[in-house]
Amino acid sequence: MLGKDYENQDCAIARALEVVGERWTMLIVRDAFYGVRRFNDFQAHLDIPKAVLSDRLAGLVDEDILERVPDPQHTGRHLYELTRAGRDLWPVINALLAWGGRHRQTNSRLFRHATCGTRLDDAGHCPECDVTPAPEAIVTERRRGRGRKRRDPVSVALQEPHRLLEPLET
Ligand SMILES: [Zn+2]
Repeated sequence: MLGKDYENQDCAIARALEVVGERWTMLIVRDAFYGVRRFNDFQAHLDIPKAVLSDRLAGLVDEDILERVPDPQHTGRHLYELTRAGRDLWPVINALLAWGGRHRQTNSRLFRHATCGTRLDDAGHCPECDVTPAPEAIVTERRRGRGRKRRDPVSVALQEPHRLLEPLET
C-alpha cells in the first residue's frame, strides 16, 4: 500500500497533505462545514464504504481536525465536530471550490455573507462589507437549478439556505 506521508519533503504543504490528502478526507471536512455530524449522515451523503468512512473519521480525530462528542439523541453514538484546527481549513475548502468552479464544473452551491446577504467572491470576501467572514457568518444555499438529483437526508436538508457549522436537521 502507498504510504500517506512525505517524510523527505521538508515543506508545510507535505505536512498538511499528510492530514487531508487522502481520498474522501476533504469531502468529509466539507460536509462537516455544511453541518453534518453523524456517521450515518456522512455515509448517506458521500456514498462511501463504511470501513473507509470509519478510517477517515478516526484519522481526522487523531489529527485533531474533528472531535468526537457523545450524541445526546443516540446513547452510545457520537457526533463529529470540527476543532479549531479543523475550522481553519475553511479557506482551503473555499479555494478548492472556487478553483473547481472556475476550471472544472460550476459549483452547485452559493455562499453569502449572513450579515448582508451579499454573494462572496471566489476568495470568500464580501465586497459589500469589505470583510472575509468566518464560516459561522456564511450562509450556503443551492444554486438555482442545481443539486436536486440526490434524495439522501443531507442533500434534502441542504436544499434550504443554511449557515455553515450549524448542525443539519436530518
Ligand atoms: Zn457583507
